[in-house]
Amino acid sequence: MKRREFIRTATGAATAGTALAAISRTACAPGPEPPPPFTAWTWVHGNRDYDAAEWRRRFARLRQAGLDAVLVGGGDVALVSEAAHGEGLEYHRWFWTLNRNGDEWAQTNHPEWFTVSRNLESSLAQPPYVGYYRWVCPSREPVRDYLRGLVGELAANPAVHGVHLDYVRHCDVILPRGLWDTYDLVQDTELPEFDFCYCGGSYRAHILL
Ligand SMILES: [Zn+2]
Repeated sequence: MKRREFIRTATGAATAGTALAAISRTACAPGPEPPPPFTAWTWVHGNRDYDAAEWRRRFARLRQAGLDAVLVGGGDVALVSEAAHGEGLEYHRWFWTLNRNGDEWAQTNHPEWFTVSRNLESSLAQPPYVGYYRWVCPSREPVRDYLRGLVGELAANPAVHGVHLDYVRHCDVILPRGLWDTYDLVQDTELPEFDFCYCGGSYRAHILL
């Protein structure tokens, strides 16, 4: 059966022309661009006591599992990036942006950069929820300059494919419901000890204006 006869049989003679037109439009109209290929990345803690061979072995396993890139926090950039590249993985830096728990320099030299709760307690001295919740306040221009410099240094390294910015936010004022039991909390309202930031920076001033 020829195509026209088939359509006439299937749809009835009165609608055959419409059906053919629809098929023709479908065949000729430019479709949407196909989606880009799917890639899989994973976070990796770089502060491990591994030598180059051990990093290669671990990255080889990730590559075999279908991973395309690693987002590495901490560790030796040259050592770990070389191992990643050697196994065909992109190497990105995993950067904790406003949560600066591991930043001894900022904690020592600029405690005033750290966010302040509605109880007027610093997240440096009284980290909310967990001990590593120590956050700097983006309302402060020196904080923004400092972070911009750190990211710029990382991005300038040709071994680094990109910089992944994590924790670009304040501390959670209300945790997801499923975590309340974990921290023995009932957060049906915004509690002052988890509400940041009240350091008096310009960001809050702008909101109030
Ligand atoms: Zn602040």
